[in-house]
Amino acid sequence: MAIKVTHDGTSPHDRCAERCFNCRAPTRYWYARKDVAVCLECAAVVRPSDVPSKSEWCAKEAALTARVV
Ligand SMILES: [Zn+2]
Repeated sequence: MAIKVTHDGTSPHDRCAERCFNCRAPTRYWYARKDVAVCLECAAVVRPSDVPSKSEWCAKEAALTARVV
């Protein structure tokens, strides 16, 4: 894969998964270097420079969530 991701260690019943920064699919995998959620499919194709910072990602998620509500 293009970037290395790590599983968050939770079981499927533990809690809601976070959303992948790229496609927004629920995922339990994280790009640990930036602490951003990314699914395995996107991890295979994105480059490290494609991954937003934690603050950028949180701001984007907050904006998207606000638009839905
Ligand atoms: Zn994805």
